[in-house]
Amino acid sequence: MATKKKEEKESKKESKSKENLEYVNKQGKRLDGRTVDETRPIKIKVGVVPNADGSAYLEWGQNKVIAAVYGPRECLPKHTANPYKAMVRYTYRMATFSVPDRKNPRPGRRDVEISKVSSEAFERAIFTEKFPNTAIDIYVEVLDSNAGTRIAALTTAAVAVADAGIPMRDMIAGVAVGKAGGNIIVDLNKYEEDAPDAVDIPIAILPNSEEIVLLQMDGLLSKKEWVEARTKAFAAIKKVHELQKQALLEKYKNFESTPSNDGSDKQ
Ligand code: UDP
Repeated sequence: MATKKKEEKESKKESKSKENLEYVNKQGKRLDGRTVDETRPIKIKVGVVPNADGSAYLEWGQNKVIAAVYGPRECLPKHTANPYKAMVRYTYRMATFSVPDRKNPRPGRRDVEISKVSSEAFERAIFTEKFPNTAIDIYVEVLDSNAGTRIAALTTAAVAVADAGIPMRDMIAGVAVGKAGGNIIVDLNKYEEDAPDAVDIPIAILPNSEEIVLLQMDGLLSKKEWVEARTKAFAAIKKVHELQKQALLEKYKNFESTPSNDGSDKQ
């Protein structure tokens, strides 16, 4: 009983200290020194899983994600195949050691939801109609996390799909934007996501057409705040997209197209 009271007191104290926190100071700097429209550092490496058709590894601040793509391949069980298009099966998982409290390895509601919305995003990007009766399997594992993992996962997976040579209308790139302490900020970390007035909006788009393929929202924003958040998100996504392209170029810059005997170009 006494411990429960102590815990309640501690949590009240913590939320009070969060209320008093200055999420953006007078110099325009956030708790970790970033400006309001700055993402955490991003590093992408292509081709990290030798047996996969395409793969990528990404570090986004503390977030670490690995993605592997298999397919298009036979869709099993067969009754799940679609004679008009490929089935995109996206699996998002967090490793048990990727969060402060051990994560239950069994997929929970959150993993299933993220996998579903991410599959739908890829169905917009991939020319699925070119591969009837097949499946494209995208597996993403989060190895370390500090908020923003669904977008980090989607960004990595898009690079892995491109690495697999699967034709896409466009790349998928994203960022989470939102609000903490009354400020509209880009790429919230866990501390900012836990602010008393926090709003978290993961957004992913096809960067060339700017079509939104994933948008979720926790909390409420005014219309004016949403317009500001959207503008900041789109600007940040352009930078994420550039890094995706650079990572792919890094792998393929030394590959030269050599003509084969049948006249077609071969790698
Ligand atoms: N998180 C956690 N345990 C869980 C799920 C999430 O500790 O079971 C942490 C993890 O660091 C994650 C953050 O909470 O990045 C925010 O989770 P959210 O559901 O908002 O998704 P995300 O921002 O990662 O896309």
